[in-house]
Amino acid sequence: MVEGDAGLEDWRRRYLDTLEELDARTRSWTETERVLRQGLSRLTLAADRSHTVLAGQLETLRTLLRSGATGEPLRSLLEEISESILQFDDRVEPPPRVETRFWGRLFGSKAAAAAAAAPGQKERGPLTLARKLLQEMIDELATPPEQRERMLQRVDSIADEIQLLNLGHDLVTLLRPHVGQGRRQTAAAGPAEVTDVLLHLLDRIDVSIELVDRRDAIRSLLTERPGPATLDRAILGIADLVSEIHIRVERQKGEIETFLKQIAERLGEIDSGFQQSVISQREAYEEGVELDKTVNVQVQEIEESVSQAEDLEPLKLALQRRIDVIRTHMQQYRSNEERRIERAEREVDQLNQRLQSVQEESASLRRRLQEERNLALVDTLTGIPNRFAYNERLQLEVARWRRYQSPLVLSIWDIDRFKNVNDEYGHQAGDKALKLIARLFRDHVRETDFVARYGGEEFVVLLPETQMENALVMAELMRKRVESCGFHFHGAPVPITTSCGLSQFQEGDSAEQVFSRADAALYRAKAQGRNRCSVG
Ligand code: GH3
Ligand code: MG
Ligand code: MG
Repeated sequence: MVEGDAGLEDWRRRYLDTLEELDARTRSWTETERVLRQGLSRLTLAADRSHTVLAGQLETLRTLLRSGATGEPLRSLLEEISESILQFDDRVEPPPRVETRFWGRLFGSKAAAAAAAAPGQKERGPLTLARKLLQEMIDELATPPEQRERMLQRVDSIADEIQLLNLGHDLVTLLRPHVGQGRRQTAAAGPAEVTDVLLHLLDRIDVSIELVDRRDAIRSLLTERPGPATLDRAILGIADLVSEIHIRVERQKGEIETFLKQIAERLGEIDSGFQQSVISQREAYEEGVELDKTVNVQVQEIEESVSQAEDLEPLKLALQRRIDVIRTHMQQYRSNEERRIERAEREVDQLNQRLQSVQEESASLRRRLQEERNLALVDTLTGIPNRFAYNERLQLEVARWRRYQSPLVLSIWDIDRFKNVNDEYGHQAGDKALKLIARLFRDHVRETDFVARYGGEEFVVLLPETQMENALVMAELMRKRVESCGFHFHGAPVPITTSCGLSQFQEGDSAEQVFSRADAALYRAKAQGRNRCSVG
Protein backbone atom coordinates (compact mmCIF):
# COMPACT_ATOMS: atom_id res chain seq x y z
CA MET A 1 0.00 0.00 0.00
CA VAL A 2 2.77 2.43 0.95
CA GLU A 3 4.62 1.54 -2.22
CA GLY A 4 1.41 2.08 -4.21
CA ASP A 5 0.94 5.51 -2.66
CA ALA A 6 4.49 6.49 -3.57
CA GLY A 7 3.91 5.24 -7.15
CA LEU A 8 0.72 7.25 -7.44
CA GLU A 9 2.43 10.32 -6.05
CA ASP A 10 5.25 9.88 -8.54
CA TRP A 11 2.75 9.74 -11.40
CA ARG A 12 0.90 12.77 -10.16
CA ARG A 13 4.18 14.68 -10.09
CA ARG A 14 5.08 13.62 -13.63
CA TYR A 15 1.61 14.55 -14.79
CA LEU A 16 2.02 18.03 -13.32
CA ASP A 17 5.52 18.33 -14.82
CA THR A 18 4.11 17.49 -18.24
CA LEU A 19 1.41 20.12 -17.78
CA GLU A 20 4.12 22.65 -16.98
CA GLU A 21 6.02 21.59 -20.08
CA LEU A 22 2.91 22.16 -22.17
CA ASP A 23 2.52 25.54 -20.60
CA ALA A 24 6.10 26.54 -21.46
CA ARG A 25 5.69 25.40 -25.05
CA THR A 26 2.44 27.30 -25.41
CA ARG A 27 4.29 30.40 -24.24
CA SER A 28 6.98 29.97 -26.85
CA TRP A 29 4.38 29.33 -29.56
CA THR A 30 2.55 32.45 -28.52
CA GLU A 31 5.79 34.40 -28.91
CA THR A 32 6.28 33.06 -32.47
CA GLU A 33 2.73 33.96 -33.30
CA ARG A 34 3.26 37.45 -31.90
CA VAL A 35 6.26 38.04 -34.15
CA LEU A 36 4.30 36.84 -37.18
CA ARG A 37 1.40 39.08 -36.33
CA GLN A 38 3.69 42.04 -35.79
CA GLY A 39 5.29 41.40 -39.16
CA LEU A 40 1.97 41.14 -40.95
CA SER A 41 0.76 44.29 -39.24
CA ARG A 42 3.84 46.15 -40.38
CA LEU A 43 3.31 44.82 -43.86
CA THR A 44 -0.15 46.35 -43.90
CA LEU A 45 1.30 49.68 -42.81
CA ALA A 46 4.02 49.62 -45.43
CA ALA A 47 1.74 48.98 -48.36
CA ASP A 48 0.63 51.66 -50.75
CA ARG A 49 -2.40 53.50 -49.42
CA SER A 50 -3.38 54.87 -52.81
CA HIS A 51 -4.87 51.55 -53.82
CA THR A 52 -8.23 51.78 -52.15
CA VAL A 53 -9.27 48.12 -52.43
CA LEU A 54 -5.91 46.95 -51.14
CA ALA A 55 -5.92 49.61 -48.42
CA GLY A 56 -9.37 48.40 -47.31
CA GLN A 57 -8.24 44.78 -47.31
CA LEU A 58 -5.11 45.66 -45.36
CA GLU A 59 -7.18 47.53 -42.82
CA THR A 60 -9.36 44.43 -42.41
CA LEU A 61 -6.20 42.35 -42.03
CA ARG A 62 -4.98 44.63 -39.27
CA THR A 63 -8.33 44.41 -37.51
CA LEU A 64 -8.32 40.62 -37.85
CA LEU A 65 -4.78 40.43 -36.49
CA ARG A 66 -5.61 42.69 -33.60
CA SER A 67 -8.64 40.55 -32.77
CA GLY A 68 -6.38 37.51 -32.59
CA ALA A 69 -7.93 35.70 -35.59
CA THR A 70 -6.07 32.74 -37.02
CA GLY A 71 -6.58 29.98 -39.58
CA GLU A 72 -9.12 30.19 -42.35
CA PRO A 73 -10.30 33.85 -42.17
CA LEU A 74 -6.67 35.00 -42.20
CA ARG A 75 -5.76 32.69 -45.04
CA SER A 76 -8.59 33.65 -47.33
CA LEU A 77 -8.00 37.34 -46.69
CA LEU A 78 -4.32 36.91 -47.58
CA GLU A 79 -5.40 35.24 -50.81
CA GLU A 80 -7.66 38.17 -51.62
CA ILE A 81 -4.81 40.56 -50.90
CA SER A 82 -2.45 38.79 -53.25
CA GLU A 83 -5.21 38.86 -55.87
CA SER A 84 -5.40 42.65 -55.44
CA ILE A 85 -1.64 42.96 -55.77
CA LEU A 86 -1.87 41.11 -59.07
CA GLN A 87 -4.55 43.50 -60.32
CA PHE A 88 -2.55 46.36 -58.94
CA ASP A 89 -0.09 45.96 -61.78
CA ASP A 90 -2.81 46.13 -64.47
CA ARG A 91 -4.38 49.18 -62.92
CA VAL A 92 -1.26 51.28 -62.76
CA GLU A 93 -0.68 53.55 -65.71
CA PRO A 94 2.75 53.65 -67.25
CA PRO A 95 4.93 56.16 -65.43
CA PRO A 96 4.46 59.66 -66.75
CA ARG A 97 7.31 60.75 -68.96
CA VAL A 98 7.62 64.04 -67.21
CA GLU A 99 10.57 65.23 -69.22
CA THR A 100 9.00 64.59 -72.64
CA ARG A 101 5.64 65.91 -71.58
CA PHE A 102 7.26 68.99 -70.18
CA TRP A 103 9.26 69.88 -73.29
CA GLY A 104 6.48 68.69 -75.58
CA ARG A 105 3.97 70.98 -73.96
CA LEU A 106 6.40 73.84 -73.75
CA PHE A 107 7.66 73.90 -77.31
CA GLY A 108 5.16 71.60 -79.09
CA SER A 109 2.15 72.52 -81.15
CA LYS A 110 1.82 76.27 -81.32
CA ALA A 111 -1.91 76.05 -81.83
CA ALA A 112 -2.39 74.04 -78.69
CA ALA A 113 -0.08 76.38 -76.85
CA ALA A 114 -1.97 79.42 -78.10
CA ALA A 115 -5.30 77.87 -77.17
CA ALA A 116 -4.00 77.24 -73.66
CA ALA A 117 -2.94 80.85 -73.19
CA ALA A 118 -5.31 83.37 -71.69
CA PRO A 119 -6.74 85.64 -74.41
CA GLY A 120 -5.60 88.81 -72.66
CA GLN A 121 -2.04 87.64 -72.49
CA LYS A 122 -1.78 86.55 -76.09
CA GLU A 123 0.36 89.54 -77.07
CA ARG A 124 3.00 88.68 -74.49
CA GLY A 125 3.87 85.61 -76.52
CA PRO A 126 5.42 82.25 -75.75
CA LEU A 127 7.17 83.37 -72.51
CA THR A 128 3.86 83.93 -70.80
CA LEU A 129 2.60 80.67 -72.13
CA ALA A 130 5.75 78.90 -70.93
CA ARG A 131 5.36 80.47 -67.48
CA LYS A 132 1.77 79.33 -67.27
CA LEU A 133 2.63 75.79 -68.27
CA LEU A 134 5.53 75.71 -65.85
CA GLN A 135 3.34 76.96 -63.00
CA GLU A 136 0.74 74.36 -63.83
CA MET A 137 3.33 71.64 -63.83
CA ILE A 138 5.02 72.73 -60.62
CA ASP A 139 1.61 72.79 -58.95
CA GLU A 140 1.04 69.23 -60.01
CA LEU A 141 4.31 68.06 -58.48
CA ALA A 142 4.41 66.67 -54.98
CA THR A 143 7.48 68.64 -53.86
CA PRO A 144 7.99 70.19 -50.43
CA PRO A 145 6.19 73.59 -50.21
CA GLU A 146 9.38 75.69 -49.82
CA GLN A 147 10.90 74.12 -52.90
CA ARG A 148 7.72 74.73 -54.86
CA GLU A 149 7.70 78.35 -53.71
CA ARG A 150 11.29 78.85 -54.87
CA MET A 151 10.56 77.34 -58.27
CA LEU A 152 7.45 79.46 -58.74
CA GLN A 153 9.45 82.60 -57.92
CA ARG A 154 11.99 81.69 -60.58
CA VAL A 155 9.19 81.13 -63.06
CA ASP A 156 7.84 84.62 -62.31
CA SER A 157 11.23 86.23 -62.81
CA ILE A 158 11.91 84.74 -66.25
CA ALA A 159 12.67 87.62 -68.61
CA ASP A 160 14.04 85.96 -71.71
CA GLU A 161 14.37 82.70 -73.56
CA ILE A 162 17.84 81.97 -72.14
CA GLN A 163 16.54 82.19 -68.59
CA LEU A 164 13.64 80.05 -69.60
CA LEU A 165 15.95 77.40 -71.05
CA ASN A 166 18.17 77.49 -67.94
CA LEU A 167 15.16 77.09 -65.69
CA GLY A 168 13.96 74.26 -67.92
CA HIS A 169 17.25 72.40 -67.50
CA ASP A 170 17.34 73.01 -63.75
CA LEU A 171 13.78 71.79 -63.49
CA VAL A 172 14.52 68.61 -65.36
CA THR A 173 17.45 67.95 -63.03
CA LEU A 174 15.25 68.69 -60.05
CA LEU A 175 12.48 66.58 -61.42
CA ARG A 176 14.59 63.52 -62.09
CA PRO A 177 14.42 62.17 -58.59
CA HIS A 178 10.68 62.84 -58.62
CA VAL A 179 10.33 60.91 -61.83
CA GLY A 180 11.95 57.99 -60.09
CA GLN A 181 10.00 58.49 -56.91
CA GLY A 182 6.73 59.03 -58.72
CA ARG A 183 7.19 55.77 -60.53
CA ARG A 184 8.04 54.00 -57.32
CA GLN A 185 5.05 55.39 -55.53
CA THR A 186 2.54 54.56 -58.19
CA ALA A 187 3.83 51.25 -59.43
CA ALA A 188 6.71 49.53 -57.76
CA ALA A 189 7.23 51.36 -54.46
CA GLY A 190 4.41 49.63 -52.66
CA PRO A 191 5.67 46.17 -53.68
CA ALA A 192 9.32 47.19 -53.08
CA GLU A 193 8.53 48.24 -49.55
CA VAL A 194 6.32 45.22 -49.15
CA THR A 195 9.22 43.07 -50.32
CA ASP A 196 11.48 44.57 -47.65
CA VAL A 197 8.93 44.08 -44.93
CA LEU A 198 8.29 40.51 -46.09
CA LEU A 199 12.02 39.79 -46.08
CA HIS A 200 12.30 41.28 -42.63
CA LEU A 201 9.37 39.18 -41.51
CA LEU A 202 10.87 36.03 -42.98
CA ASP A 203 14.15 36.71 -41.24
CA ARG A 204 12.34 36.91 -37.96
CA ILE A 205 10.50 33.60 -38.41
CA ASP A 206 12.61 30.99 -36.71
CA VAL A 207 11.04 27.92 -38.29
CA SER A 208 11.78 24.34 -37.33
CA ILE A 209 14.41 22.51 -39.33
CA GLU A 210 11.87 20.80 -41.67
CA LEU A 211 10.48 24.15 -42.79
CA VAL A 212 13.81 25.90 -43.34
CA ASP A 213 13.93 24.98 -47.05
CA ARG A 214 10.46 26.35 -47.65
CA ARG A 215 11.30 29.59 -45.89
CA ASP A 216 14.53 29.93 -47.87
CA ALA A 217 12.71 29.30 -51.16
CA ILE A 218 10.34 32.18 -50.38
CA ARG A 219 13.31 34.33 -49.41
CA SER A 220 14.98 33.67 -52.77
CA LEU A 221 11.77 34.67 -54.55
CA LEU A 222 11.73 37.92 -52.63
CA THR A 223 15.41 38.79 -52.98
CA GLU A 224 15.02 38.86 -56.74
CA ARG A 225 12.92 42.01 -56.31
CA PRO A 226 9.89 40.33 -57.76
CA GLY A 227 7.06 41.64 -59.91
CA PRO A 228 3.51 41.43 -58.62
CA ALA A 229 2.94 37.85 -59.82
CA THR A 230 5.97 36.53 -57.97
CA LEU A 231 5.18 38.70 -54.99
CA ASP A 232 1.78 37.10 -55.02
CA ARG A 233 3.38 33.67 -54.88
CA ALA A 234 5.68 34.77 -52.08
CA ILE A 235 2.80 36.13 -50.00
CA LEU A 236 0.83 32.93 -50.53
CA GLY A 237 3.98 31.02 -49.61
CA ILE A 238 4.28 32.95 -46.36
CA ALA A 239 0.58 32.47 -45.65
CA ASP A 240 1.08 28.73 -46.19
CA LEU A 241 4.18 28.72 -44.03
CA VAL A 242 2.31 30.50 -41.25
CA SER A 243 -0.60 28.11 -41.42
CA GLU A 244 1.81 25.15 -41.58
CA ILE A 245 3.51 26.38 -38.40
CA HIS A 246 0.10 26.83 -36.88
CA ILE A 247 -1.03 23.35 -37.90
CA ARG A 248 2.16 21.81 -36.50
CA VAL A 249 1.76 23.67 -33.25
CA GLU A 250 -1.87 22.60 -33.01
CA ARG A 251 -0.96 19.01 -33.84
CA GLN A 252 1.71 18.91 -31.17
CA LYS A 253 -0.60 20.51 -28.67
CA GLY A 254 -3.26 17.95 -29.61
CA GLU A 255 -0.82 15.08 -29.12
CA ILE A 256 0.25 16.30 -25.74
CA GLU A 257 -3.31 16.98 -24.66
CA THR A 258 -4.42 13.49 -25.74
CA PHE A 259 -1.53 12.01 -23.86
CA LEU A 260 -2.32 14.03 -20.76
CA LYS A 261 -5.92 12.85 -20.99
CA GLN A 262 -4.73 9.25 -21.26
CA ILE A 263 -2.53 9.68 -18.23
CA ALA A 264 -5.43 11.22 -16.34
CA GLU A 265 -7.62 8.23 -17.26
CA ARG A 266 -4.95 5.73 -16.29
CA LEU A 267 -4.38 7.50 -13.03
CA GLY A 268 -8.14 7.26 -12.48
CA GLU A 269 -8.03 3.52 -13.18
CA ILE A 270 -5.09 3.09 -10.87
CA ASP A 271 -6.91 5.05 -8.21
CA SER A 272 -10.03 2.91 -8.49
CA GLY A 273 -7.79 -0.21 -8.42
CA PHE A 274 -6.43 0.92 -5.09
CA GLN A 275 -9.90 1.69 -3.84
CA GLN A 276 -11.00 -1.79 -4.90
CA SER A 277 -8.18 -3.33 -2.92
CA VAL A 278 -9.18 -1.27 0.12
CA ILE A 279 -12.75 -2.57 -0.27
CA SER A 280 -11.48 -6.17 -0.59
CA GLN A 281 -9.44 -5.75 2.57
CA ARG A 282 -12.40 -4.37 4.41
CA GLU A 283 -14.53 -7.28 3.19
CA ALA A 284 -11.87 -9.72 4.35
CA TYR A 285 -11.74 -8.03 7.73
CA GLU A 286 -15.51 -8.05 8.10
CA GLU A 287 -15.72 -11.71 7.07
CA GLY A 288 -12.94 -12.51 9.54
CA VAL A 289 -14.91 -10.77 12.32
CA GLU A 290 -18.03 -12.66 11.25
CA LEU A 291 -16.16 -15.98 11.28
CA ASP A 292 -14.73 -15.16 14.66
CA LYS A 293 -18.24 -14.52 15.99
CA THR A 294 -19.60 -17.75 14.48
CA VAL A 295 -16.74 -19.81 15.86
CA ASN A 296 -17.15 -18.17 19.27
CA VAL A 297 -20.87 -18.94 19.33
CA GLN A 298 -20.26 -22.54 18.29
CA VAL A 299 -17.50 -23.00 20.85
CA GLN A 300 -19.68 -21.48 23.54
CA GLU A 301 -22.47 -23.81 22.65
CA ILE A 302 -20.08 -26.75 22.65
CA GLU A 303 -18.98 -25.72 26.13
CA GLU A 304 -22.59 -25.52 27.23
CA SER A 305 -23.41 -28.86 25.64
CA VAL A 306 -20.44 -30.45 27.36
CA SER A 307 -21.32 -29.02 30.74
CA GLN A 308 -24.93 -30.07 30.45
CA ALA A 309 -24.34 -33.45 28.82
CA GLU A 310 -25.51 -36.52 30.60
CA ASP A 311 -25.22 -39.03 27.83
CA LEU A 312 -22.24 -39.41 25.63
CA GLU A 313 -24.07 -40.26 22.40
CA PRO A 314 -26.21 -37.11 22.06
CA LEU A 315 -23.18 -35.07 23.13
CA LYS A 316 -21.10 -36.61 20.35
CA LEU A 317 -23.84 -35.80 17.86
CA ALA A 318 -24.18 -32.21 19.09
CA LEU A 319 -20.41 -31.73 18.99
CA GLN A 320 -20.25 -33.19 15.50
CA ARG A 321 -22.90 -30.70 14.33
CA ARG A 322 -21.11 -27.76 15.86
CA ILE A 323 -17.79 -28.79 14.45
CA ASP A 324 -19.42 -29.19 11.02
CA VAL A 325 -20.79 -25.66 11.24
CA ILE A 326 -17.36 -24.34 12.20
CA ARG A 327 -15.69 -26.26 9.39
CA THR A 328 -18.22 -25.03 6.82
CA HIS A 329 -17.62 -21.46 7.88
CA MET A 330 -13.89 -21.95 7.86
CA GLN A 331 -14.05 -23.42 4.35
CA GLN A 332 -16.30 -20.63 3.19
CA TYR A 333 -13.92 -18.06 4.60
CA ARG A 334 -10.88 -19.76 3.06
CA SER A 335 -12.41 -20.03 -0.38
CA ASN A 336 -13.51 -16.38 -0.19
CA GLU A 337 -10.02 -15.46 0.88
CA GLU A 338 -8.52 -17.41 -2.03
CA ARG A 339 -10.84 -15.65 -4.48
CA ARG A 340 -9.88 -12.32 -2.99
CA ILE A 341 -6.20 -13.11 -3.25
CA GLU A 342 -6.59 -14.23 -6.87
CA ARG A 343 -8.54 -11.09 -7.71
CA ALA A 344 -6.01 -8.92 -5.93
CA GLU A 345 -3.17 -10.58 -7.84
CA ARG A 346 -4.95 -10.03 -11.14
CA GLU A 347 -5.54 -6.40 -10.25
CA VAL A 348 -1.94 -5.90 -9.22
CA ASP A 349 -0.86 -7.42 -12.54
CA GLN A 350 -3.15 -5.12 -14.47
CA LEU A 351 -2.02 -2.12 -12.52
CA ASN A 352 1.58 -3.03 -13.17
CA GLN A 353 0.92 -3.37 -16.88
CA ARG A 354 -0.86 -0.03 -17.02
CA LEU A 355 1.84 1.66 -15.03
CA GLN A 356 4.48 0.22 -17.31
CA SER A 357 2.75 1.35 -20.48
CA VAL A 358 2.16 4.86 -19.12
CA GLN A 359 5.77 4.92 -18.05
CA GLU A 360 6.97 3.95 -21.52
CA GLU A 361 4.71 6.41 -23.31
CA SER A 362 5.59 9.13 -20.89
CA ALA A 363 9.31 8.48 -21.27
CA SER A 364 9.07 8.76 -25.04
CA LEU A 365 6.92 11.88 -24.85
CA ARG A 366 9.34 13.36 -22.37
CA ARG A 367 12.24 12.64 -24.70
CA ARG A 368 10.43 14.21 -27.62
CA LEU A 369 9.38 17.22 -25.60
CA GLN A 370 12.92 17.67 -24.41
CA GLU A 371 14.27 17.40 -27.96
CA GLU A 372 11.70 19.84 -29.27
CA ARG A 373 12.25 22.13 -26.36
CA ASN A 374 15.97 22.14 -27.05
CA LEU A 375 15.27 22.86 -30.70
CA ALA A 376 12.75 25.55 -29.81
CA LEU A 377 15.37 27.35 -27.76
CA VAL A 378 18.12 27.26 -30.37
CA ASP A 379 18.36 29.56 -33.36
CA THR A 380 18.38 27.37 -36.46
CA LEU A 381 20.79 29.50 -38.47
CA THR A 382 23.52 30.17 -35.94
CA GLY A 383 23.00 27.39 -33.42
CA ILE A 384 23.16 29.77 -30.47
CA PRO A 385 20.23 30.36 -28.08
CA ASN A 386 17.35 32.30 -29.58
CA ARG A 387 15.00 34.92 -28.25
CA PHE A 388 12.83 32.42 -26.34
CA ALA A 389 15.90 31.08 -24.59
CA TYR A 390 16.95 34.65 -23.85
CA ASN A 391 13.57 35.45 -22.30
CA GLU A 392 13.85 32.43 -20.03
CA ARG A 393 17.39 33.22 -18.99
CA LEU A 394 16.51 36.87 -18.46
CA GLN A 395 13.84 35.91 -15.92
CA LEU A 396 16.37 33.78 -14.10
CA GLU A 397 19.07 36.46 -14.05
CA VAL A 398 16.62 39.19 -13.04
CA ALA A 399 15.38 37.04 -10.16
CA ARG A 400 18.98 36.43 -9.10
CA TRP A 401 19.80 40.13 -9.35
CA ARG A 402 16.76 41.01 -7.21
CA ARG A 403 17.63 38.38 -4.61
CA TYR A 404 21.36 38.99 -4.29
CA GLN A 405 21.61 42.57 -5.58
CA SER A 406 24.61 41.49 -7.66
CA PRO A 407 25.27 43.73 -10.67
CA LEU A 408 23.74 42.75 -14.00
CA VAL A 409 24.35 44.35 -17.40
CA LEU A 410 22.40 43.88 -20.62
CA SER A 411 23.97 44.64 -23.98
CA ILE A 412 22.20 44.74 -27.34
CA TRP A 413 24.21 44.36 -30.53
CA ASP A 414 23.21 45.21 -34.07
CA ILE A 415 25.27 44.65 -37.20
CA ASP A 416 25.99 47.90 -39.03
CA ARG A 417 24.51 48.45 -42.48
CA PHE A 418 23.78 44.80 -42.76
CA LYS A 419 21.23 45.39 -45.46
CA ASN A 420 24.13 46.52 -47.65
CA VAL A 421 25.93 43.21 -47.05
CA ASN A 422 22.85 41.35 -48.27
CA ASP A 423 22.31 43.71 -51.17
CA GLU A 424 25.93 43.70 -52.34
CA TYR A 425 27.01 40.13 -51.66
CA GLY A 426 23.72 38.26 -51.43
CA HIS A 427 21.71 36.76 -48.64
CA GLN A 428 24.02 33.78 -48.35
CA ALA A 429 26.88 36.09 -47.49
CA GLY A 430 24.64 37.72 -44.87
CA ASP A 431 23.81 34.32 -43.39
CA LYS A 432 27.47 33.37 -43.29
CA ALA A 433 28.36 36.61 -41.54
CA LEU A 434 25.63 36.02 -38.98
CA LYS A 435 27.01 32.55 -38.25
CA LEU A 436 30.53 33.89 -37.89
CA ILE A 437 29.50 36.68 -35.54
CA ALA A 438 27.38 34.30 -33.46
CA ARG A 439 30.43 32.05 -33.14
CA LEU A 440 32.65 34.97 -32.14
CA PHE A 441 30.21 35.92 -29.42
CA ARG A 442 29.70 32.35 -28.22
CA ASP A 443 33.42 31.61 -28.08
CA HIS A 444 34.47 34.80 -26.37
CA VAL A 445 31.91 35.59 -23.72
CA ARG A 446 32.61 34.28 -20.21
CA GLU A 447 30.99 31.06 -19.12
CA THR A 448 28.54 32.91 -16.88
CA ASP A 449 27.53 35.34 -19.63
CA PHE A 450 24.63 34.52 -21.86
CA VAL A 451 24.49 35.31 -25.56
CA ALA A 452 21.49 34.90 -27.85
CA ARG A 453 20.37 35.91 -31.31
CA TYR A 454 17.55 38.25 -30.51
CA GLY A 455 16.24 38.28 -34.07
CA GLY A 456 17.42 39.32 -37.53
CA GLU A 457 20.91 40.81 -37.18
CA GLU A 458 20.55 41.61 -33.51
CA PHE A 459 22.20 39.83 -30.60
CA VAL A 460 21.86 40.24 -26.84
CA VAL A 461 24.42 39.47 -24.17
CA LEU A 462 23.57 39.25 -20.48
CA LEU A 463 26.50 39.88 -18.17
CA PRO A 464 25.76 38.82 -14.60
CA GLU A 465 28.05 39.80 -11.72
CA THR A 466 29.48 42.58 -13.86
CA GLN A 467 29.79 46.29 -13.24
CA MET A 468 29.25 48.60 -16.20
CA GLU A 469 32.90 49.60 -16.25
CA ASN A 470 33.99 46.04 -16.96
CA ALA A 471 31.05 45.32 -19.24
CA LEU A 472 32.10 48.26 -21.39
CA VAL A 473 35.69 47.00 -21.58
CA MET A 474 34.43 43.58 -22.68
CA ALA A 475 32.01 45.10 -25.18
CA GLU A 476 34.82 47.18 -26.70
CA LEU A 477 36.94 44.05 -27.03
CA MET A 478 34.09 42.24 -28.73
CA ARG A 479 33.40 45.14 -31.04
CA LYS A 480 37.04 45.19 -32.14
CA ARG A 481 37.03 41.45 -32.52
CA VAL A 482 34.11 41.68 -34.97
CA GLU A 483 35.68 44.59 -36.79
CA SER A 484 38.87 42.63 -37.35
CA CYS A 485 37.26 39.23 -37.97
CA GLY A 486 38.41 39.30 -41.59
CA PHE A 487 35.15 38.02 -43.01
CA HIS A 488 35.40 36.94 -46.66
CA PHE A 489 32.76 35.82 -49.09
CA HIS A 490 33.74 34.03 -52.30
CA GLY A 491 37.26 35.29 -51.81
CA ALA A 492 36.29 38.94 -51.40
CA PRO A 493 36.75 40.71 -48.06
CA VAL A 494 33.46 41.96 -46.62
CA PRO A 495 33.88 44.54 -43.87
CA ILE A 496 31.61 43.89 -40.90
CA THR A 497 31.14 46.10 -37.87
CA THR A 498 28.65 46.16 -35.02
CA SER A 499 27.20 48.75 -32.70
CA CYS A 500 26.28 48.08 -29.11
CA GLY A 501 24.04 49.61 -26.46
CA LEU A 502 24.59 48.69 -22.81
CA SER A 503 22.61 49.28 -19.67
CA GLN A 504 22.98 48.15 -16.08
CA PHE A 505 20.06 47.06 -13.90
CA GLN A 506 19.36 49.70 -11.26
CA GLU A 507 17.25 49.58 -8.11
CA GLY A 508 13.55 49.39 -9.03
CA ASP A 509 14.20 48.63 -12.72
CA SER A 510 12.03 46.30 -14.74
CA ALA A 511 13.68 44.21 -17.47
CA GLU A 512 11.73 46.24 -20.06
CA GLN A 513 13.12 49.51 -18.75
CA VAL A 514 16.68 48.23 -18.94
CA PHE A 515 16.07 46.89 -22.43
CA SER A 516 14.73 50.17 -23.70
CA ARG A 517 17.68 52.07 -22.16
CA ALA A 518 20.13 49.70 -23.88
CA ASP A 519 18.13 50.01 -27.09
CA ALA A 520 18.23 53.81 -26.91
CA ALA A 521 21.98 53.63 -26.31
CA LEU A 522 22.33 51.41 -29.36
CA TYR A 523 20.38 53.94 -31.35
CA ARG A 524 22.80 56.64 -30.19
CA ALA A 525 25.78 54.48 -31.16
CA LYS A 526 24.26 54.20 -34.65
CA ALA A 527 23.56 57.92 -34.85
CA GLN A 528 27.10 58.77 -33.77
CA GLY A 529 28.55 56.89 -36.71
CA ARG A 530 28.21 53.15 -35.87
CA ASN A 531 30.97 50.66 -34.93
CA ARG A 532 30.88 51.88 -31.34
CA CYS A 533 29.49 51.05 -27.92
CA SER A 534 27.26 53.40 -26.01
CA VAL A 535 26.01 53.24 -22.41
CA GLY A 536 22.42 54.04 -21.50
P1 GH3 B 1 21.88 49.70 -39.31
O1 GH3 B 1 23.34 49.97 -39.30
O2 GH3 B 1 21.10 50.94 -39.07
O3 GH3 B 1 21.52 48.64 -38.35
O4 GH3 B 1 21.52 49.23 -40.76
P2 GH3 B 1 21.03 47.80 -41.22
O5 GH3 B 1 21.10 47.76 -42.70
O6 GH3 B 1 21.79 46.76 -40.51
O7 GH3 B 1 19.56 47.77 -40.67
P3 GH3 B 1 18.20 47.30 -41.27
O8 GH3 B 1 17.32 47.03 -40.09
O9 GH3 B 1 17.68 48.27 -42.29
O10 GH3 B 1 18.49 45.96 -42.03
C1 GH3 B 1 18.66 44.79 -41.37
C2 GH3 B 1 19.01 43.79 -42.41
O11 GH3 B 1 19.36 42.54 -41.83
C3 GH3 B 1 17.87 43.53 -43.35
C4 GH3 B 1 17.62 42.05 -43.24
O12 GH3 B 1 17.29 41.47 -44.46
C5 GH3 B 1 18.93 41.55 -42.72
N1 GH3 B 1 18.76 40.28 -42.03
C6 GH3 B 1 18.07 40.05 -40.91
N2 GH3 B 1 18.09 38.73 -40.62
C7 GH3 B 1 18.83 38.12 -41.58
C8 GH3 B 1 19.19 36.77 -41.82
O13 GH3 B 1 18.82 35.84 -41.12
N3 GH3 B 1 19.99 36.53 -42.89
C9 GH3 B 1 20.40 37.54 -43.69
N4 GH3 B 1 21.20 37.23 -44.70
N5 GH3 B 1 20.03 38.81 -43.52
C10 GH3 B 1 19.27 39.10 -42.47
MG1 MG C 1 18.51 45.87 -36.77
MG1 MG D 1 21.71 46.62 -38.46
